[in-house]
Amino acid sequence: MIRIILLGPPGAGKGTQSVKLAQQLSLPHISTGDLLRQNVKDGTELGKEAKDYMNKGQLVPDELVAQMLVKRFGMDDVKGGFILDGYPRNINQAKTLDGILKDKKMAIDMVIYLDTSDVVIIQRLSGRLVCSSCAANFHKTNMPPKVSGVCDLCKGKLYQRTDDKEETIKNRIVVYKNEVAALIKYYQDSNKLHSLNADGDAGIVLNKIMELAKENDPLKV
Ligand code: AMP
Repeated sequence: MIRIILLGPPGAGKGTQSVKLAQQLSLPHISTGDLLRQNVKDGTELGKEAKDYMNKGQLVPDELVAQMLVKRFGMDDVKGGFILDGYPRNINQAKTLDGILKDKKMAIDMVIYLDTSDVVIIQRLSGRLVCSSCAANFHKTNMPPKVSGVCDLCKGKLYQRTDDKEETIKNRIVVYKNEVAALIKYYQDSNKLHSLNADGDAGIVLNKIMELAKENDPLKV
């Protein structure tokens, strides 16, 4: 039972690591990016409002994302813990999250910051492929699917995200950097932050995260 936030730039491997962590710890993976993309795909009101911001690499307004999260945290599966990926992205969101969780008598146990260099971010994002059906991530060269264009897990069709174009990637890095220092300080001040270098092999990073998760599990004897 642990509540973890994975923090880091786009391309840090938050999605990839979250999926594996969620499997290993049997916890739900909550990705605000995935939830928003699902809304866009389903053509919901939220999806219609969010779409343009997402395509430009800008943040969707805090209020819209907060409403979506309140709904998600109202579901039963989060009671035993969760892996949160892509949220918070600024201090206002961090405070909103604390408020949402407090209402439900929960709190974050640990924040893992995946520190990643710009060169690695651009290389990872420009080659990223995403499954249109289950949202699993692959990479054209680092982690190619067994069959080109087809998801290994569910056989869904792989696509390149519209915001994974070089110009938009650069904008997303700028947006990210404007906000991250304050977020890091926020979680350092509450003694929840653990920093890891995430430029290297995904398996090694995952092992380090698992060690931290074991050490910081509030139910650890
Ligand atoms: P991601 O899949 O985390 O890279 O998110 C893709 C896009 O969804 C971002 O570039 C934003 O436009 C939007 N998004 C995801 N999470 C958030 C968030 N916490 N706040 C605002 N916008 C978000």
